[in-house]
Amino acid sequence: MLIGLDDTDSVFGMCTTYIGTLIIEAIKDIDINLIKEPPKLIRLNPNNPYKTRGNGAVSIRIVENVDSTTIKKIKSLSFDIIRNYSESGENTNPAIIFVEDNSINNEVEIFSERALHELLSIDEAVSILKRIGADYEFMGNGRGLIGSLASCGLRLEDFTYELIVYRNHYKRGKKAVSEKSAMEIEKKYSPRIFSSYDFINNRMMISPHSDCPILYGIRGESPEILLEAASIIDSEKPYKRNLFITNQGTDMHLQKKNIEEILPYSSVITEGIISKSPYTVLGGHVFFEISNGKEILCAAYEPTKGFRDIIRKLTKGDKIKAYGGVLETQYGLTLNLERIEILELSKIYKIEKPLCHICGNQMKSIGKDKGYRCKKCHTKNNEFSKIPISRDIELGLYEVPMCAKRHLSKPLVRYGRERVYEEERFKFDYTKFDIKFEGI
Ligand code: ATP
Repeated sequence: MLIGLDDTDSVFGMCTTYIGTLIIEAIKDIDINLIKEPPKLIRLNPNNPYKTRGNGAVSIRIVENVDSTTIKKIKSLSFDIIRNYSESGENTNPAIIFVEDNSINNEVEIFSERALHELLSIDEAVSILKRIGADYEFMGNGRGLIGSLASCGLRLEDFTYELIVYRNHYKRGKKAVSEKSAMEIEKKYSPRIFSSYDFINNRMMISPHSDCPILYGIRGESPEILLEAASIIDSEKPYKRNLFITNQGTDMHLQKKNIEEILPYSSVITEGIISKSPYTVLGGHVFFEISNGKEILCAAYEPTKGFRDIIRKLTKGDKIKAYGGVLETQYGLTLNLERIEILELSKIYKIEKPLCHICGNQMKSIGKDKGYRCKKCHTKNNEFSKIPISRDIELGLYEVPMCAKRHLSKPLVRYGRERVYEEERFKFDYTKFDIKFEGI
């Protein structure tokens, strides 16, 4: 059986991974062998306007052939935890679902995949849940059912891990996590861990500033490496921890599209030639347009920091691949850049007065469209000189800095390494993993 949950938090606190962890702990207290694999932290459509932060949902797999009394107990304790710990408020619509593994049919898988690329309706989620005979409960308008279902139905080909360490949810205010230790793990373990410390912008990335119970989270390729890195992190005393399998850092949200096929709320990889050179607007955002016959506006917003300097070096005629999320903005359909690949650089020239081919002196213009004359020997010439300008940028991939990266975006350090640590991943035994904090 799968348990899916979502939308338990608000901007004021709580976190769906924390509530999932409380549920897992309570189930393990019944019998440690009821859960044999780490829960999944699934990031859904990053352009979803209803999200609180990273549009995450959680699913937990219970082993097969559990007796009906235990299943009843699991459902009842899970409902209670959701009811007691979820935030409340207008934009918080907590939900929990229980589905049999064999109910995850084609329809559920397609719905789950679409939850990464489209905006889905609550009605559609409810009608699927009814058709597959799932047990579910929700508060508010039921929106949490969308993520709960998608977190159970999404198939992961590529995946990574996140080890999340929590403080008690009653504790609020500034979190004490040492920046120095975050720098240390980034230096020591990258690329096997990623997105821990942004050395370019001097920003610690493991500890969220919001008032959620997450003290810090370390993302990486295998459980072992995350546990080793966590032993270096110096922080206030943690309360609990959990390990999640996740689609973070996999690019699962991106779909290849031609410009004319791009829809709002999707995330795309699209190719085009720059038809309007980059320009900077108030606030420091940089825009340009690409075209393949049809145009789309691309944006590198101010939070992308130094990435904008790369964009400013581009010019009309350059061929690029643009990666990013698409929204309808005040400027029209806009692709919010996460990464670009420069495929071809156009040649640009400086136009200069020619040199005299007889005496080598610089020639002088005789008037608009009338050509040039040498001041010394009076020779005439109609051609100006085209001096090629060095482009100061190379073909290849460029990404936004770590501090501006979306959870789902694959960091360049992961390119080509997706399967490198496969063997080490499956050595991990989740039944032996202790959620209660005893010092990692
Ligand atoms: P956090 O990452 O801190 O857990 P969040 O950013 O995940 O918070 P939620 O509070 O879970 O935000 O709110 C997102 C809401 O949007 C949920 O109700 C979820 O079911 C719903 N949702 C997720 N994906 C889609 C989608 N593709 N279309 C419509 N609704 C969606």
